[in-house]
Amino acid sequence: MRPVAAQIDRDDRIPPELVGALARERFLALGTPAEWGGEPADAGSVAAVLEELARGSAAIGVLVAVHLSVASAPIAAWGTETQKERFLRPLARGERLGAFGLTEPDTGSDAASIRSRYRRDGDGFVLDGRKMFISNAVSAGLVLAFATSDPTLGRRGISAFVVPAGTPGFSVSRRLDKLGLRGSETTELVLDSVTVGAESLLGPEGNGLKVALSALAGGRVGIAACALGVARAAFDEMRQRVRDDDVPWKRTALARSFAELSAAEALVERAAARRDAGEPFARDASVAKLVASRAANEIASRGIDVAGPDGARSGAAPERLLRDARVFPIVEGTTEIQELVLARELLATREEPNPL
Ligand SMILES: Cc1cc2nc3c(=O)[nH]c(=O)nc-3n(C[C@H](O)[C@H](O)[C@H](O)COP(=O)(O)OP(=O)(O)OC[C@H]3O[C@@H](n4cnc5c(N)ncnc54)[C@H](O)[C@@H]3O)c2cc1C
Repeated sequence: MRPVAAQIDRDDRIPPELVGALARERFLALGTPAEWGGEPADAGSVAAVLEELARGSAAIGVLVAVHLSVASAPIAAWGTETQKERFLRPLARGERLGAFGLTEPDTGSDAASIRSRYRRDGDGFVLDGRKMFISNAVSAGLVLAFATSDPTLGRRGISAFVVPAGTPGFSVSRRLDKLGLRGSETTELVLDSVTVGAESLLGPEGNGLKVALSALAGGRVGIAACALGVARAAFDEMRQRVRDDDVPWKRTALARSFAELSAAEALVERAAARRDAGEPFARDASVAKLVASRAANEIASRGIDVAGPDGARSGAAPERLLRDARVFPIVEGTTEIQELVLARELLATREEPNPL
C-alpha cells in the first residue's frame, strides 16, 4: 500500500479504478443494512477497516469514512423507505459516492449560523448557497446538504436535503489544494436555485442540525479510526528506522509513541463498543478523535526527528504522514470545539465524579 499512498499524494487524486475496486470489494457498503444492499458490520468492525485503509493511505480511509459515516449512515437512520431505496441503495452499491455539505465559506464550527437558504416551492424546495471544504464532492453522486429557511431562527431553521449530482444548479465551483490528505477531493460547492422534490428532505423539517450532529458523532469514530491508522503507519515507519539506527533517544521516542498509539487504540475501540452496545457514545467519540488525532500528529512529528533530514524530504513517508496527520484535528469538529463541548458537558454532569 505504501507506494500507492505515495502515488495518490503525488498525483493529488485517488485513481477512479481504485474507487471502483473499493465498491466491488464492498467497502462502500459496510454498516448499511442488507435490505438496502449493504454489508452489515458493527461499528467496531467498520473502525478496524477504516484504520487499516488509512494506515495504507489516509486519503482512501477518509473517502470511505465520509461515504459511510456522514452520508450513508444518516440516510439509513433518518430516511424513509423511499429515500433509502432511491439514495441509500446506490451508495451501498458504490454507484454513487456520498458527501456531507455543512461547512460554508463563512461558517464552520458554529454550524447553527449557516447561510445557505432553502424555500418551499410547491411540494418541493429550492436551495441557494455555497458549501466549502466538502470531501468526496467532485466525483460525488450525492451530497447531504444543510440549509436554513431563515437564518434568524438559528438551529430551528435548518433542514437536511439529499441532493444528487446532476441536479440543475448544483455544481462544484473549485477543487481546493491542501497540505495533506491530498488525494481526498476537497471542494467548494455552489447551490444556485437547486430545485429538489419533497423526497429530498431528510428527517423532519427544522431538524437538520440534529441530523448533522448525529451523523458527526458517528463520523468522529470513523475519523478517529483513520487518525489511528495514520498514527500506526507513522509508528511502523519509525520502528523500522529505529531498528536500522538503534540509539537510546530513538528507542525512547519509539516507546513513547507506542504508549500514545495504544491509548488511541483503546479509546477508538471503546467508542465503537459503546455505539455497538446501543449506549450513548458521542462523548467517547469526541475523546477518541481528540486523542487519536493528537497521537497521529505527535508520532508523525517524532517520526521526522527519528528519520532526520531524509524523512523531511518532499514525498518521503514521514513527511507525507505528518502532512496527512495535520488534517485530523480539523475535520468533523476541531479539537478546540470538542474540548469546549466536553468541558461544558463535564461541568454539567454533577452525578459523575469520574466521567472517564
Ligand atoms: C481536509 C478537510 C476536509 C473537510 N471535509 C468536510 C466535509 O466533507 N464536509 C463539511 O461540511 N466540512 C468539511 N470540512 C470542514 C471542517 O469541518 C471545518 O474546517 C471545521 O469544522 C472548522 O471550521 P472552519 O474551517 O470554518 O474554522 P472556524 O470555525 O472558523 O475555526 C477556526 C479556528 O478557530 C477555532 N475556534 C472556532 N471557534 C472557537 C471557539 N468558540 N473557541 C475556541 N476556538 C475556536 C477552531 O478550533 C479553529 O482552530 C473539511 C475540512 C478539511 C480541512
